[in-house]
Amino acid sequence: MDKRRCTILKSEELWNQAKQLFAGGVNSPVRASVKPYPFFTERGKGAYIYTVDGKKLIDYVLGYGPLILGHSPDSVKIKIAEQLEKGWLFGTPTELEIKLARKITSHIPSAQKVRFVNSGTEATMAAIRLARGYTNRNKILKFSGNYHGAHDYGLVEAGSAATEYNVATSKGVPYEIINTIEICEYNDIQCVDKKLRKEDIAAVIMEPVMGNAGVILPEREFLSGIRELTKSYNSLLIFDEVITGFRVSIGGAQSLYQIYPDITTLGKIIGGGLPIGAIVGKAEIIENFTPSGKVFNAGTFNAHPLSMVAGIATIEELEKEYPYIIANKAAKILVEEIERMIKIKHTINHISSMFQIFFGVDQVKNYSDAKRANKEYYMKLHEMLLKEEVFIPPSQYETIFTSASHTDDIINNTLNKLKKVIGE
Ligand code: PMP
Repeated sequence: MDKRRCTILKSEELWNQAKQLFAGGVNSPVRASVKPYPFFTERGKGAYIYTVDGKKLIDYVLGYGPLILGHSPDSVKIKIAEQLEKGWLFGTPTELEIKLARKITSHIPSAQKVRFVNSGTEATMAAIRLARGYTNRNKILKFSGNYHGAHDYGLVEAGSAATEYNVATSKGVPYEIINTIEICEYNDIQCVDKKLRKEDIAAVIMEPVMGNAGVILPEREFLSGIRELTKSYNSLLIFDEVITGFRVSIGGAQSLYQIYPDITTLGKIIGGGLPIGAIVGKAEIIENFTPSGKVFNAGTFNAHPLSMVAGIATIEELEKEYPYIIANKAAKILVEEIERMIKIKHTINHISSMFQIFFGVDQVKNYSDAKRANKEYYMKLHEMLLKEEVFIPPSQYETIFTSASHTDDIINNTLNKLKKVIGE
């Protein structure tokens, strides 16, 4: 039988089953954006995803950010396997959580104490409650197109899949909660000044580098201005470094820009590809979590042993620096070459091992700019690359990531495919 036809059927057949079981066929919306139906993955190794249809894709999605070393690196796999022998859930403290917390506090400049949770969503939800409890204020200031997870407190003008699926402000979020959220455009310091002056803001929460409306960089004065303003109005500053933590540098965006928030939320990379989130910050603030304080947080799976060992092993590799050298070089070459290849109006925003391409616009400094970009062109690029077995995110409002597994050969191979696709 024609092998190709036979293999195409496998994802299609699974997709037909998935549609009967899951809303929109998936368990996280962006996955449904691969058309005409998502490919199903069997395994991943290094820079590659292997689909059930027998395809080997060069992966620039990398689990939406956690896999900075690439898929199933041996250094992490061994540690997970060792932990499996010992057991994987105890409901008691373990030495592992101390080890991972020490790694985090040694690298993230503003991190003195840590609370581990299970996802970035949980981290920002808890961080917002913590800020409200600490300041005895209710209002939160966020930025259009920043995404802080799938809970009520962030789903107002949220980026990522919330934008892709036209629910930037989700149905089901009570009006009373929406009313506690103030919004500014990214890089608009005047707006922040005005809001802080006028409202009693508990905290400003922000992605210090945006990764959920494509990549958007902060202007220096924007970050430093927010730090000064939040201090002078006694509001807390929360950096949501779920993407940027251990990605843009080992100390996150705060280390790169040398702007230090009061609270930082982490996720993705610190769990080495296993579920994780963390709220870190000044000891005096983090101490307000139960049981030492009155801001409730708890979790059956908090500080899960498997996530702890995967996180420790991942950070141990990052400490050797080579992952950043390889991943950053890969992104730099791709960006430089793509700049050369694309002849129509476009802009590429890039930092370390993350970038995004926007067609039809000269610059993208905020969410409105990102939404003006021609996302049909971007999706065309995604589709054509997928045919060439290169996987970039199926949404304009996500980030293209590189990893320590994206070696020169793989980048050259990608460039050849890009040349063909962009030429067409
Ligand atoms: N914050 C940011 C900046 C994110 O990018 C994400 C997810 N992409 C989240 C929070 C939510 O994290 P999770 O998907 O692990 O809940």
